[in-house]
Amino acid sequence: MHVNFVQGRVTEVHPDERYVTLAPHQQGQPERLDYDYLLIATGPKLNFAATPGLGHTEGHTVSICTLDHAIEARDSYLEQVQRLEKGERLRFVVGTGHPGATCQGAALEYISNIHKDLVRRRVRDRAEV
Ligand SMILES: Cc1cc2nc3c(=O)[nH]c(=O)nc-3n(C[C@H](O)[C@H](O)[C@H](O)COP(=O)(O)OP(=O)(O)OC[C@H]3O[C@@H](n4cnc5c(N)ncnc54)[C@H](O)[C@@H]3O)c2cc1C
Repeated sequence: MHVNFVQGRVTEVHPDERYVTLAPHQQGQPERLDYDYLLIATGPKLNFAATPGLGHTEGHTVSICTLDHAIEARDSYLEQVQRLEKGERLRFVVGTGHPGATCQGAALEYISNIHKDLVRRRVRDRAEV
């Protein structure tokens, strides 16, 4: 079986002619990629605005749904850890934005991660999770 992996960002789909266009890697020409069948699996589109207060720009929450978000959440978490280490008491609320969200498992795992990390840092007694 021959599998050819091409990494690139699809910018156009041409279903009649059966090809997609990939954004150029550098400053070259867009690349044409012909297909027999096309499966579109571009992942979720995050919609923080659907829940008032949610979101890291308009709202008051951080997210771990993309790499950039997760790095921001890590930085924010470490700031809260510093406050705990100075003696403050803090509450961490972890969850999903909507009951229909399919990522409750990730939220539960994140609670476990925070719990374990705060125990390791000996500040768990000052945090409500
Ligand atoms: C923190 C976290 C933990 C999770 N834990 C679990 C777990 O334990 N178990 C579980 O089952 N699920 C888990 N999930 C959910 C799981 O990751 C997703 O359901 C799954 O990755 C969705 O797969 P997908 O292929 O549909 O989309 P994605 O994994 O989002 O993949 C979509 C891909 O399409 C690419 N793409 C988008 N636009 C274009 C374009 N124009 N051209 C080319 N490529 C494009 C994106 O860059 C991405 O690589 C977790 C999710 C998160 C955020």
